[in-house]
Amino acid sequence: MISRADQGARAAASHCGYPSGSNRRGAMRSQIRTLAKPFSEHDWPGLTCPTCRDGVLGAPSIVYENDARDPATDAKFDNDPTAPEGGFHGHLVCSRQRCGAWAVIGGRYTTDWQMFPGNILDLWAVLEVKTILPGPSILELSPGVPEPVRREIDRASNLIWLDPQAAAGALRSAVERVMDDHDIPAEDSNGGYLTLHNRLQKFKQKNQQTATLLMAVKWVGNGGVHQSAAMSADDALDTAEIVEVALGALYAPDDSAIRERAERINTAKRLVP
Ligand SMILES: [Zn+2]
Repeated sequence: MISRADQGARAAASHCGYPSGSNRRGAMRSQIRTLAKPFSEHDWPGLTCPTCRDGVLGAPSIVYENDARDPATDAKFDNDPTAPEGGFHGHLVCSRQRCGAWAVIGGRYTTDWQMFPGNILDLWAVLEVKTILPGPSILELSPGVPEPVRREIDRASNLIWLDPQAAAGALRSAVERVMDDHDIPAEDSNGGYLTLHNRLQKFKQKNQQTATLLMAVKWVGNGGVHQSAAMSADDALDTAEIVEVALGALYAPDDSAIRERAERINTAKRLVP
């Protein structure tokens, strides 16, 4: 039988590198998507460290409730090593020694198995993450995104594992903060409350394309009686991607200095400062 400790070491070895530059955004998205559905402990994604954003939070050291290697568990499950399920918790450590930040994880697990020739039983846990603190950001933000919007995105990033609908609600609140930042009033001329729907309609007169994106986030974030089915973390991530595109359009990084220098080089027909 292959122990879980051996499996953890193999998973860690497979996460020794990390893509950089333009690949990073796509890689981050794929890591978060892996976490959003139940996955084998072999497939733990190398998450970007939310503290330094350079290191990688590799395969975690995990403690399992009802661990198959524990004799007490054998008695409880009638010596069936494939039966254990329950909770797990653990910690991830940043691969950058100078950072060394921790993230704490927890969730539920079940046991999956496969029999190999020679009567060798391979067991592994199938993990369903319910909390990661601090949580990896569920979307990439340009430096120009205002702090009140950023706070709501952080809130969504922490909520998404435990309560995807609540995360969608936080994304909806981020849209309210975007309206604040664009001076769209929250009250009408009589001091009455303006709904987010009303605010987005006013915003649409300034920026139709982005307003259309943000309106979709509003509908999903309304939740409650309007939601026809339970929302999954994957669904909430779909909504986060819409927010990311909208914020990318509204708060694009300022590249005017680079454009101006290109003009100077063209004028001089050589490299100039
Ligand atoms: Zn770090």
